[in-house]
Amino acid sequence: MRPLNETITACPPSGIRRFFDIAAEMDDVVSLGVGEPDFVTPWRIREAGIYALEHGHTTYTGNAGLPELRRLICDDLARRYDARYTPDRECLITTGVSEGLDLALRVLLNPGEEVIVPEPCYVAYQPCVSFAGGIPVGVPTRAEDGFAIDVDAVEAAVTDRTKAILIGSPANPTGAVQPPAVLRALVALAERHDLYLVSDEIYDRLTYTGTHHCLGAVPGARERTVVLGGFSKAQAMTGWRVGWLAAPGPIADLALRVHQYTMLCAPHVSQVAAVEALRAAEGDVAEMVADYDRRRRVFVKGLRELGLECPEPAGAFYAFPSIRSSGLDSETFAERLLKAESVAVVPGGVFGPSGEGHIRCSYATALPQLEVALERMGRFLSSL
Ligand code: PLP
Repeated sequence: MRPLNETITACPPSGIRRFFDIAAEMDDVVSLGVGEPDFVTPWRIREAGIYALEHGHTTYTGNAGLPELRRLICDDLARRYDARYTPDRECLITTGVSEGLDLALRVLLNPGEEVIVPEPCYVAYQPCVSFAGGIPVGVPTRAEDGFAIDVDAVEAAVTDRTKAILIGSPANPTGAVQPPAVLRALVALAERHDLYLVSDEIYDRLTYTGTHHCLGAVPGARERTVVLGGFSKAQAMTGWRVGWLAAPGPIADLALRVHQYTMLCAPHVSQVAAVEALRAAEGDVAEMVADYDRRRRVFVKGLRELGLECPEPAGAFYAFPSIRSSGLDSETFAERLLKAESVAVVPGGVFGPSGEGHIRCSYATALPQLEVALERMGRFLSSL
């Protein structure tokens, strides 16, 4: 047989998967491994989905998604962040941020063009760049800087093949929120070198120590920026598969062109449920965010009391402590912790070279479980 696609063959399987497979074989595992809310979708949103089925909303929607959902998303972006997009031409409903990311990169890139990706970063960023024919160029961030993007290092990585910069804030796996000054500096850099920006803002509502700033609202950014958002995290809707892409008309138009041939539309029932999420579920979201914040405080304090340095995670639902004091690399640490104490975490190295020496712990896990995890981690650390 002739060889399959070289780019995909060369892409290693997700480093997170292996740990799930080991954990699945074990009893009594406390999992801090998954990047998924432990809450079920708020009832009023589920009910809207049930009504949608009752009313026979089982067809395709228009390719761009339900007009009401696009209008609510654009209203929300304008009200919360002063980011201005028109629902008809500049907003597209996607099958999760995952599809939005894929569309954005396919639309922006020609084969061989480079995308600068500050890391450690979400595991899909670099593979998605490659699948779109591009070349991902990782630029390290450092725990000492709170994982703020080093804009000078980004600029130093720019070549004549660089086409875009891809960021996520609040970030998976670090929980870092990029300060407004960094966002402004990135936009200035993009203007200087005529680059596009892709901004994954899926965790926008999950910020604990300040307010979220939408990159699309930073002066100068709009015409060169694709903003991605969705419902998986703050609204606890991972399984519904609904997100959105907001971008200036020419970019959104091409994204719609790809989407209409590949995905056709996001699930109809999920879009109806997402309408309800934006119309009536902000109270439910606020309750979940308050709960994550309580867990965040307890968990980060607990990690520090165990002697693990942990930069303040200001957003998302991850802590990213250093495990350098253990003398183990992150993969060995995670594997031994899992086998010895049945606590599943993700080795930081899977998120990029500068994630090495850290582990990602999700606190989208009930407080009693977090407390058990801390106790077991303490036992593990003293056994080393
Ligand atoms: N972006 C980030 C930073 C994520 O952490 C995730 C999921 O973990 C996604 C995107 C995927 O989002 P969706 O469920 O909307 O496809």
